[in-house]
Amino acid sequence: MPENTTRTRRCPDCDGFPTVAITTGHTTGNGTRHTITAICRACHGTGTVPLRTRTAAGVEVAA
Ligand SMILES: [Zn+2]
Repeated sequence: MPENTTRTRRCPDCDGFPTVAITTGHTTGNGTRHTITAICRACHGTGTVPLRTRTAAGVEVAA
């Protein structure tokens, strides 16, 4: 068993990369690419989501 027992798992939407920079196609005054930052909406930029457990009734609840 790993010692890491935190009750989270990697976000399935962003696969652990919650924040990315996207180039807009424009360049700034000093020649660098202009970028915007996009944050994963599923995990809100954390990269992890709470581990969910299934109950006997089959309904998922947050752990
Ligand atoms: Zn995510």
